[in-house]
Amino acid sequence: MTAPILNVSAELLSAIEAEQTHLQAEAEATTEEIRVQIRKLGQIIGRLESTCRRAEIRLGRVALVRLLQGAVPPVVAELRERLQATEVEAMGDEITVRQLGELKRLAADLRQQLQQACPHALVIGYDGSEGSKSMDYDDGYDSRWHCAVCDANVEPEERRGRPGDHRLVAIVTRSKLGTTRQELDALPLDDIIEDFTPKGLLGAIEAYAALAPDTGSEPSVNK
Ligand SMILES: [Zn+2]
Repeated sequence: MTAPILNVSAELLSAIEAEQTHLQAEAEATTEEIRVQIRKLGQIIGRLESTCRRAEIRLGRVALVRLLQGAVPPVVAELRERLQATEVEAMGDEITVRQLGELKRLAADLRQQLQQACPHALVIGYDGSEGSKSMDYDDGYDSRWHCAVCDANVEPEERRGRPGDHRLVAIVTRSKLGTTRQELDALPLDDIIEDFTPKGLLGAIEAYAALAPDTGSEPSVNK
């Protein structure tokens, strides 16, 4: 007796074979087509990701310029100029002791007003250290931060500001802080702001403004 499997006709086997070969080829073609689409989508994602990175860098620059522009409101600039002029006047040879006392009081008053009006956006100083175990932590020291514009103390926890209220921070050594503060006190504001401005920042913004297509809302560094 012949096993039933051998009774399956050659035609039926051929038909199954043809059908499955066709399905296989079709599935392979579709898979390849999808792979091509995935590669294309990958390229698109890559381009979009680099657009995002570039936009992030440019947004960072804009935020930095805004921060630098807001670092010294006009009232702060005026108070600082008056303070500097008063301090120069107090150093004059011709003034009397009484005039000197008045000028010193005026300078103290102006400094207080200046420190109250200033947003303390440009900060210099150094981080503290807990000291070393071998020195029994006697060599530890506290951090000190000062506003480069008005010389107010800035609390260590405030030196980075609250979210959205950033500051620009310049780190100096402990030994240098004293002289740096004296130098900053006498410097014009433009020089201080320039010291805190990363090189090439304004050039990059201006180059972008020159290249940017006219969208009706022109990018401007003065807004
Ligand atoms: Zn300040």
